[in-house]
Amino acid sequence: MALTVVSHPLAEHLLSRLRDRETPPPVFRAIAKQLTLVLVVEAVRGLPSRETSVETPLERTEGSEIDPNLVAVPILRAGLGMLEAVTELFPEVSVGYVGLERDDETLEPTSYYEKLPPVEGRHVLLLDPMLATGGSAVAACSSIQEREPAGLIFVCVVAAPEGVARMERLHPQVPIFAAALDRQLNEKGYILPGLGDFGDRLFGTDPDVGARPRSPEALA
Ligand code: URA
Repeated sequence: MALTVVSHPLAEHLLSRLRDRETPPPVFRAIAKQLTLVLVVEAVRGLPSRETSVETPLERTEGSEIDPNLVAVPILRAGLGMLEAVTELFPEVSVGYVGLERDDETLEPTSYYEKLPPVEGRHVLLLDPMLATGGSAVAACSSIQEREPAGLIFVCVVAAPEGVARMERLHPQVPIFAAALDRQLNEKGYILPGLGDFGDRLFGTDPDVGARPRSPEALA
């Protein structure tokens, strides 16, 4: 299934601010949420909706609502930065969690936590901002697909060609939505040009940041 790079000036604007190394964690968190809103708007385009009837202050009219039977699954921990956008758009969403960490040597994921609501017959939005080697995305998709959802959509902020290729090989039926397809991975599995370690930047755990003086503009 094809990668969709969401092409919108607002997505590009927000992504540029996320990429900027001077963007501090509180701003990074806010922008990550805003960008996820834009991505999810595009990602849910193909979800089933049903007709409704609604009473306006003046008269009854036809309406439409997206199937409320949605599940969101952020991959811990960086995926948490994308969750609030989904819960705000879909307050009824059920939320599950998948905890995967990368072995620094092999770059392969190992699972340390998994808590999923029933997903059979439901549409699942899997959230992980950086599709790098694709190891975590593939492992999470495999685990969710075993439970026979009606559909699974992967939403990320930045994708690397390596991760997209792996997903297309192992989960060809899972559509991927991203704000950008970047150039490549470096030897440590980071995306280039990328935006660094998303989780560290989100949670203020980047060891380099405390060591660097920040400009007043960056804190604004
Ligand atoms: N995870 C990140 O946070 N950043 C990358 O560039 C790759 C994986």
